[in-house]
Amino acid sequence: MIKNILETSQKVAYKTIQNAFLHDKKSHAYLISASKGAPTKEMAIFLAQSFLCENPSPLACEECLTCIRVADGSYSDFILVDGSKATIKKEDVEYIQSAFSKTALENKGLKIYVIHMIEKATAGAINSLLKFLEDPTDDVVAILTTENINMVLDTIISRCQLLRLMTFSKQEIINEIQGKGVDHEDALILSSKYSDIEEIMEIYNNQEFVMIKDLVIETVIQIEKDILGLNYFIQKEVMPKIKKDKNNCFIYLDLLETLLQDVLKLSLGQEILFVNQKDILTKLVMEKVNVQKMIEHIMIEKNKIFLNCEVNLLLDSLFYKIVYNKGE
Ligand SMILES: [Zn+2]
Repeated sequence: MIKNILETSQKVAYKTIQNAFLHDKKSHAYLISASKGAPTKEMAIFLAQSFLCENPSPLACEECLTCIRVADGSYSDFILVDGSKATIKKEDVEYIQSAFSKTALENKGLKIYVIHMIEKATAGAINSLLKFLEDPTDDVVAILTTENINMVLDTIISRCQLLRLMTFSKQEIINEIQGKGVDHEDALILSSKYSDIEEIMEIYNNQEFVMIKDLVIETVIQIEKDILGLNYFIQKEVMPKIKKDKNNCFIYLDLLETLLQDVLKLSLGQEILFVNQKDILTKLVMEKVNVQKMIEHIMIEKNKIFLNCEVNLLLDSLFYKIVYNKGE
C-alpha cells in the first residue's frame, strides 16, 4: 500500500498531514513539492483519498470503495489533471471550475481536484487557477504538485499549504515496483537507471524492454561461446529486432554495458544487477574475458547514437572493435 511507503519514506510530510487530519486543521489548498522521482502524484491521490475515505484513521484506508474509486478515477467529485501527460490549458482549469460550481454528486459533499505538475500549466491556465484559489469555498479542496517549485508563481505558493517530499531511495523504488509486479532482477536493473516510478513502469510495460534484455543476455552468451561469430550474430539476431530504432539501440547497448559491468563486479565479489545470469557471468570471470575494453568501446559508441549516425553501421563498427579489440 502506498500509505506504508509514504509513512516511511516521507516522514515529515506524512506527519504533517496526519496531525492536520487528527486535529481537524485541514487546508483547502495544498502544493506538494519535490524533485523528479519523488512520489508527488501518489501523495496527491493519497491526500485526496484521506479527505474522502469512508473509514479514515485519520488518513485514507486505501481499501474502501471511495478510496478505490478515487484511485481509479471513477469518483465523481474528484478530478485529476495530469501535467506529465500534456500541457495544462486554461480549458482544463475552466472545466474544473464549472464542474465544481455545481452541487457535489457524491454523498460526502466534498469536491477535490489534483493538478499534477502545475509547472506544465500555460499562463492562461495559471490566471484562471489564481482566481479559483482566491475565493475558496468550504466544499472544494485543491491539491497541486510540482517537480520544479522555482517555476511556480509566488502568488500560487502563498495560497497553498506547502508539503515538501523527499526523493525515493533506491531500495524504496525496488520495493514499490516489485509490488507492481516487476520481477526482482528487472527491478534491480531498472532502479539502477531510473528514479521515477511511473517512468519505470512505462518502460517495463513496454514489451521492448524484456525483448532487448533477452537480446543482451544472448549477446553475452555468444561472446562466451564464440566471439569470432559475434558480428554475424549481431547482424542476424540483433539488428532485425532493434529495427534501426535509436532508442532501442541505446537501451540495448546500455543494458549490455550493465551486464558486462556485472562481470567485473562479480570478479570483485560485489553485488550484481543481473542476478539471474550468474552462470554465464561466472564463466566470463573464469575465462578472464577482457570486458573492461568492451565496456570502454560501448560507452564511447553509446553516446553517439543520438548524433547523426546510422544504427546498423554503428553496431557493425562497435562489434568489430570488440571482436578484434581495436582501440580508439
Ligand atoms: Zn478509505
